[in-house]
Amino acid sequence: MSLKRFLPIVLLLLLLGALIYIRQPKTDPQLSRTALVMDTLVEIRAYGDDQSVLDKAISAAFDEMTRLEQLLSSHIPESEISRLSSSWKPLSLSHETIELLKLGQQIAEQSHGAFDMGLGALIKLWDIQGDSPRIPTEQELLRALKGIGPQTLTIDGLEVKKQDSQIQIDLGGIAKGYVVDRSVDILRQYGITSAAVNAGGDIRLLGDKQGQPWQIGIQHPRKAEEILVTLPLKNCAVVTSGDYERFFERDGVRYHHIFDPASGKPARLCQSVTVIAAEAARADALATAAFVLGPQAGIKLLEELPGVDGLLVSAEGKIFKTSGLPE
Ligand code: AMP
Ligand code: MG
Repeated sequence: MSLKRFLPIVLLLLLLGALIYIRQPKTDPQLSRTALVMDTLVEIRAYGDDQSVLDKAISAAFDEMTRLEQLLSSHIPESEISRLSSSWKPLSLSHETIELLKLGQQIAEQSHGAFDMGLGALIKLWDIQGDSPRIPTEQELLRALKGIGPQTLTIDGLEVKKQDSQIQIDLGGIAKGYVVDRSVDILRQYGITSAAVNAGGDIRLLGDKQGQPWQIGIQHPRKAEEILVTLPLKNCAVVTSGDYERFFERDGVRYHHIFDPASGKPARLCQSVTVIAAEAARADALATAAFVLGPQAGIKLLEELPGVDGLLVSAEGKIFKTSGLPE
C-alpha cells in the first residue's frame, strides 16, 4: 500500500490532536505545604507558573510566621509579650508588636471592652488549654480581672506602658490573624498573586483562585463534619471563633476559651462567629469581640464598621448576619 493513501488520515489525526491540546484548559501549577505555627496547623497554598518560586515563597512565609511567633506568643518566656507581662517599667518593643497592640487597642475600644488583651492572668487561671483546667472561685476571678479594660496599655512611639503592673498580656484572640497577614505580605514580595493561607480557621485569601472566587466553607459549630454555608470570596480574610475549638465539660456545662471580660467566665451568647474583613488580624479580633457581645451587639458592631461583614450562630443555634452578606 502506498503511504500517500494514508497521508490525509495522518494529517487529520494530527490536526485533531492539536485542537484537543489547544482546548485543554491551562491548569496553573500550585504548591501547598503545612507547618505547625502557634500550636496550629497552618496550610499555605500558592498558585504560579514557577514551582521553585512557589517553594521559596512558601518557605519564607513560614519563616516569617515563626519569627513573629517568637515576639507575640505568651507561651514563649523570652517573647516581647512575656517580657511586657512581667515588666513593671515601660518597655521598648518591635514595630510589629506595637502595630498589633495598637490594632488590638482600637478593637478593644470599638467593642467597649469585649475584646481585651489583658486577660493573660484569667486565661492562666482557667487553663482551658492546659492539662488541669478548672473552674476558678469568684474571688480568684476578681483578682485576675483587676486593672483590665481598653485603657490597660499606653503606647507612645515604640514604648508601651501598662496601667497596672499586674496585668498579663495575651494576644491569643488576634495574633494568629496578624501572623497570617504578614505571611501573605511575604508571598506578595515573591510576586505571588493567588494564594490562600489557613491557620486553623483564620483564613486570608490573596487574589482569586484561577479566575474564580475561592469557595470557603464555614464549619457548623455543633456538627464537625457539616458545612453551615459556603461563601464565594476573594482578596479578603475570613476568620471564625467558636466555642467548639478548645473547651472542657463539667456537669454538662461547656467551659470554652473565649471569655467575657465583664464576668471572667466563658461568653455564653454564641456558638460561633465568622468575620470577613480586608485583613485577618482585624477579622480575628472582631470575631472574638462579636462572640463575647452576642447576636445583637455583635452584629451591630460588625455592621457599623466599613468593609466588615459577619455571620453569627447564637447559643440557641439561630443564624444572624450583617446586611452585606447574601441570604
Ligand atoms: P479566638 O479563637 O480568636 O476567638 O481567640 C481565643 C483566644 O483569645 C483565647 O484562647 C484567649 O487566648 C484569648 N481570649 C479569650 N477571650 C478573649 C477576649 N474577650 N478578648 C481577647 N482575647 C481573648
Ligand atoms: Mg480572634
